[in-house]
Amino acid sequence: MDTLLDLLDSEEARKAAEEFPFAACEYARALAGKSEAFRRQMLPDARELEEVDGIGPDPFGEEDEASGCFGLKQRFPDRVLVMTSNACFMNCRHCTRKGLLRHAEVVRSDEELAACVNYVQERPEVRDVLLSGGDPLVLPDDEVMRFVDAFAVLGQVDVVRLCTRAPCVNPARVTRELAARLGACGKVWANVQFNHADEVTPEAAEACGNLVRAGIPVSCQTVLLAGVNDSVETLLDLFRALQRARVRPYYVFQCDPVAGVEHFRVPLEKAKRLARECAERIGGLGLPRFVADIPGAPRKMPVELM
Ligand code: SF4
Repeated sequence: MDTLLDLLDSEEARKAAEEFPFAACEYARALAGKSEAFRRQMLPDARELEEVDGIGPDPFGEEDEASGCFGLKQRFPDRVLVMTSNACFMNCRHCTRKGLLRHAEVVRSDEELAACVNYVQERPEVRDVLLSGGDPLVLPDDEVMRFVDAFAVLGQVDVVRLCTRAPCVNPARVTRELAARLGACGKVWANVQFNHADEVTPEAAEACGNLVRAGIPVSCQTVLLAGVNDSVETLLDLFRALQRARVRPYYVFQCDPVAGVEHFRVPLEKAKRLARECAERIGGLGLPRFVADIPGAPRKMPVELM
C-alpha cells in the first residue's frame, strides 16, 4: 500500500480511493508533504462518498454531447474540445470529470484524429480547439505535437488551447524543448491550474517561464475550493504569485456540481463576497473573473450576476 494512503484516516477514505483512484507523481507527492492546501487536493476523503440529491457524475452531459465525432465535444459554436488522454499526473479530488475519465472516449489513432480535423473543417465558425483530457502532457512530445499540428495548420483555427496541470503538478515535464516546439506554430495558448500560492514553486515558475519565453500566453484557471483557497488573503497571495511567474489569473471557477466534490464547494454568497473584496485589493491585470459553469448555460456565468 502506498505510504500516503496509509495516512488515510478512515475506511471510508480508503473506499473513496477505490471509487476514484489515487494517483500522484513524485513531484506532487513531495509538494503535498510541504503544503496542506495541496495535500487536500490530492488525498482521498471520506466525504467524496456522500450522496447529494440531484448531483451526479456528469452534470454537463459530456457523455451525451453528440458531436457524432469520437473523442470530440462541442458545447459552444466557436470552440471544440478534443480528448487527448484520460490520465493525469495527479488525480485531483475536485476534478469535474472524476467520474468520467476512466471510460472517456480518447482520440488515439490517426483515423480518429483525422475525423476530428474533418469535423472542425466542416464548421468554419470553430476557431478555438481545446486539447484536454486528462492531461495532454502525459503524452510524449511527438504525440502532443501530432495533436497541435493537426489543428494549428487549419487557417480557420486561431487558438490551440493546451489545457494542462503539468506546470503545477509535474513542472519538469514542461521542458524548454517542448515549449519551443509548442510555441513554433504561433497558435498555442496554455491554460494551467494553480489553486494556492504554495503551488507556485520555483520549479513551477520555471515551467511557466519556459512557456512564456516560447511565446505562449499562459492563463490560470483556479478552482475555488473550500478549505484550500476560500479566503481573500489566500486568493490574493495566489494571484500575486502567478503574476510574478508571468501567468495571467484568468478565471476562478466555482467548483462544479459533480458527485464526490460537494465538500469542496464554496457557497455562492461567499464566492460573491470573495470576488468583490479581491477586486478592491488588486489591479485588473491580477484579477481573474469569478465564474460558474452552469449546465445548459450559453457561457460561463459571472458570480455577481447569479
Ligand atoms: S489535472 Fe485536470 S483533468 Fe486531471 S484530475 Fe486534475 S482537474 Fe481533472
